[in-house]
Amino acid sequence: MKVRNLNGTSSNRCKCNSWLEHWENFSNQTVKQCVVNGCINIPTVGGHIQKTGLADQSWYIIPICKSCNGKYGEELEVTDKVNLISANVNYTCK
Ligand SMILES: [Zn+2]
Ligand SMILES: [Zn+2]
Repeated sequence: MKVRNLNGTSSNRCKCNSWLEHWENFSNQTVKQCVVNGCINIPTVGGHIQKTGLADQSWYIIPICKSCNGKYGEELEVTDKVNLISANVNYTCK
């Protein structure tokens, strides 16, 4: 699926130790590779993304590497198997 990498989200915080942990806590998944297609780096951060298209403007978290996370504003093609976890703490770790 295609997602859009969001820019300037480092000030957005939650109660988990990191956004990567936030993703792990709610996804019931573990990944050994960055979920961006073709990338084999170890996922070290929880990246904020939006679905492409205007129907759903919510922010979600996916486990990706620093390099992919640094591609601000770009569209990324990620594996369909990954669970998108809401970055809205009212729905998750409130
Ligand atoms: Zn959290
Ligand atoms: Zn990557």
